[in-house]
Amino acid sequence: MAAPRIIIAIDGYSSCGKSTLAKELAAQLGYNYIDSGAMYRAITLYFLRNNVALDNPIQILDAIASINLSFVFNEHRQASDIYLNDENAEPYIRDMIVAEKVSEVAAIREVRSFAVGQQKRMGRKKGIIMDGRDIGTAVFPDAELKLFMTADPAVRVMRRFKELYTSNPNITIEEVKHNLELRDYIDSTREESPLRQASDAILLDNSSLTREEQLSKVLEMVNTRIAAIKH
Ligand code: C5P
Repeated sequence: MAAPRIIIAIDGYSSCGKSTLAKELAAQLGYNYIDSGAMYRAITLYFLRNNVALDNPIQILDAIASINLSFVFNEHRQASDIYLNDENAEPYIRDMIVAEKVSEVAAIREVRSFAVGQQKRMGRKKGIIMDGRDIGTAVFPDAELKLFMTADPAVRVMRRFKELYTSNPNITIEEVKHNLELRDYIDSTREESPLRQASDAILLDNSSLTREEQLSKVLEMVNTRIAAIKH
C-alpha cells in the first residue's frame, strides 16, 4: 500500500532557509512544493506595474479580479515558476523594488483572502509542502507536520545578500538587513494572520545545521508522522 500523503507547513522569518528545505523535501518525497511568498510577490508586482493605491479598496479589488496566478514546474530550478496572467514573473519578483513593498501588500485583508483561498485549494490532494508566514496557522491549520524555522539574524542577512548579489551587484548588506528587519516587523505585527509559531509547530533553528543534517532531521519527522497515520 502506498504511504499516505501529508501536508507539510513551513513558516518562519524571512531568509531562514524555508524554501531550500521545502525544495529538498519535495524532491525526496515526490511532493509538490508551493512558495506562497511568490504569490504575494507576484501580486505586489502587478500592483506596482498598475499603480494600485494601497489605501483604495476599490482599486485593490479590481486589481485582484484581474490577477490569475499559476505555478509551472521548472526542471532547471527544480521548483515551480510563478506565472502572473500568462507571464513568467519569476525573473522580477525577487527584485528589491518588490521586496520593499510586498509586506505592505501582504497585510491587506483582500489580498490575503485571495491568496489563502487559492493556497487551500492547492492542498486538497495533500502531498504538498508550502512555506510562508501563516501556513500552519491560517492556510493549513490541520497540517500533519508543521515547522517553524528560525536562524541567527546575521546568517539570514548574509544568505539573502549572496542570493541577491548575483543579479544585483550594487546591493549592500545594509540594504538587505534593513529590508529583512522591516518585513519581519510588518509580518509579525500586522492584524491579518500575523507571523507566529502555531502551538503545534516544531521549532527548527538551522543556524548551525548543515543542509544534510537539517534534511535528515525533518525526513525523520515526516516518517514518524506518516507511521502514526498508518496505525
Ligand atoms: O517568503 P518570501 O520572503 O518570499 O515572502 C515575501 C513576503 O510575502 C513576506 O515578507 C510576507 O510579507 C509575505 N508573505 C505572507 N504570507 C505568506 C508568505 C509570504 O504574508 N504565507
